[in-house]
Amino acid sequence: MNDFATSPAGGDVLRCRRCKTAVGEVEDFCPHCGNLFHENVHCTAHPDRLARGVCVICAMALCNRCAKRKNGVWLCVDHRHYEIYQSLVRVFGTRDAVQAQYAASCIEQAGGHPFVYSRMPTMSSEGEAGIVGEHKVLVPPGEVMAVEEVLRELELLSGESPGAAPGT
Ligand SMILES: [Zn+2]
Ligand SMILES: [Zn+2]
Ligand SMILES: [Zn+2]
Repeated sequence: MNDFATSPAGGDVLRCRRCKTAVGEVEDFCPHCGNLFHENVHCTAHPDRLARGVCVICAMALCNRCAKRKNGVWLCVDHRHYEIYQSLVRVFGTRDAVQAQYAASCIEQAGGHPFVYSRMPTMSSEGEAGIVGEHKVLVPPGEVMAVEEVLRELELLSGESPGAAPGT
């Protein structure tokens, strides 16, 4: 038993202390936020430094210097630009609702768990640009790398840098 995951008295469910998500007993880190459940894990890039968290996308151990926390989720430098919504990662975005549904159904067929979130555009008021509406395809962090392979095969990611936020 360690300090990083707690199990409520009498219960058999372990929960991540940081994000309170139920986690399996065999997990080394929380798949939702990257919180490490073990001490004495060393940073992948800096073996002399202790890791503070794990990138939820590539599972690389990160020290204070490497870790980028975003919306309470640990990310490595390579994956820090991904958009995170409620512990899900945006892998694809389009203005075309049909295309978003198509991407989601292909991900599902490949064994993933996609969630389509549609952000409605806001009206632009005088002198101000409105927010562009977008249908975002979100997946759990651990599926991002496999799902991007699927999207690349469908050629849905061409012309867009993977995971890049629109307008950045
Ligand atoms: Zn967590
Ligand atoms: Zn990473
Ligand atoms: Zn490091």
